[in-house]
Amino acid sequence: MDTILVVNAGSSSVKFQIFSVEGEGQVRRQIKGQMDGIGSRPRLRAIGADGDPLADRAYPIEAIPDVPAAMSIAGEWLRNEIRINPMAVGHRVVHGGSDYDRPVLIDHGVVARLERFIALAPLHQPHNLAPIRSLLTNYPTLPQVACFDTAFHRTHDAVADYYAIPHQLHAEGIRRYGFHGLSYEYVAKTLPQIAPEIAKGRVIVAHLGSGASMCALKKGHSAESTMGFTALDGLAMGTRPGQIDPGVVLYLISEKGMSASNVQSFLYRDCGLKGLSGISNDMRELEASEDPKAKLAIEYFVYRIGLNAGMLAAALQGLDAFVFTAGIGENSVRIRARIADQLAWLGVTLDPAENSRHARLISRSDSRIPVYVVPTDEEQMIARHTLSLLLNRPSFNPGHK
Ligand code: ADP
Repeated sequence: MDTILVVNAGSSSVKFQIFSVEGEGQVRRQIKGQMDGIGSRPRLRAIGADGDPLADRAYPIEAIPDVPAAMSIAGEWLRNEIRINPMAVGHRVVHGGSDYDRPVLIDHGVVARLERFIALAPLHQPHNLAPIRSLLTNYPTLPQVACFDTAFHRTHDAVADYYAIPHQLHAEGIRRYGFHGLSYEYVAKTLPQIAPEIAKGRVIVAHLGSGASMCALKKGHSAESTMGFTALDGLAMGTRPGQIDPGVVLYLISEKGMSASNVQSFLYRDCGLKGLSGISNDMRELEASEDPKAKLAIEYFVYRIGLNAGMLAAALQGLDAFVFTAGIGENSVRIRARIADQLAWLGVTLDPAENSRHARLISRSDSRIPVYVVPTDEEQMIARHTLSLLLNRPSFNPGHK
């Protein structure tokens, strides 16, 4: 069986999936696994396509001190116990800078370019690159592909990606990039099968997970995003504040004596739903809570989505559909209903029964703006990109690995 390994490496976990290569560039998920607790309580877990457990084992902390060690143990498990030798590896890489507008086959030169973006995404980029480097060293002939969260947004009009700061800083890379691009690309590629006419029009997609953003799609391409230079901007998220006056950051530094790294950690880890509620970053816990602060956090989350929808509708000069995706968007009946209320002025009327049963189309038939729920699949997008780059390589010879 020809297979592709998809890797999503973070600071304390490596998530991986195995896809089999089917005919005509299609892929099918076979295994989903992760090594988490790296550097604390390492644990390998994996399930098969049918959800059956394939592995659940703990390791001593010193056996798996970092991401490359986790990759190596997970790789040994795949090769020696599951007998899988992937023909290629697709990696989720958060930052592709302003140049990469599509996935790229990795070599040492590409790694060197991607290292330049570590400063732009310090909490993610180094961890994304660590397994790439170790695989390049240990398996130099194994094709690896980098798939970027920023690439899908490179279709923005140039003006959309500026900040009103001196031009030289834009040239250095201080500009808007946008994130969650693999999720938006998957939704944009799925929409034509669900609503072909609408897919050609103006659509707002709300990716509401622990990270959250919205994207304005025009004819299936990204025209605007609520995220900018980093994944801190835009909507309130699990632990990130979303849009915040830069004056707040200045205040934290000058009046509260916080260092740059204190501020960074505060903005990425202590704000958003968690900061505002003082209870949790998990929407399920907030929905279950009677605490007024939990209610406020939800109200703020929903209100800001409404405000940002107005902004994206302006960027699109109108709206033909609204799409929910990711953890909260795919699962929370109540949050979807509250957001739909915020969008009523745009012409959204939800169908409560269809919303409750998580239908694909959850608006009423007379709603001027149809509302869809489209489950995202970033890993499948990475597997498809990886296969397509392999198939288009002049030297590619299936069956010879
Ligand atoms: P990520 O991939 O960014 O970690 P997900 O897309 O998995 O995030 O989304 C995680 C978020 O989805 C969490 O805030 C979680 O509370 C929320 N979520 C998942 N299921 C539900 C549900 N049934 N109701 C409300 N929120 C949910």
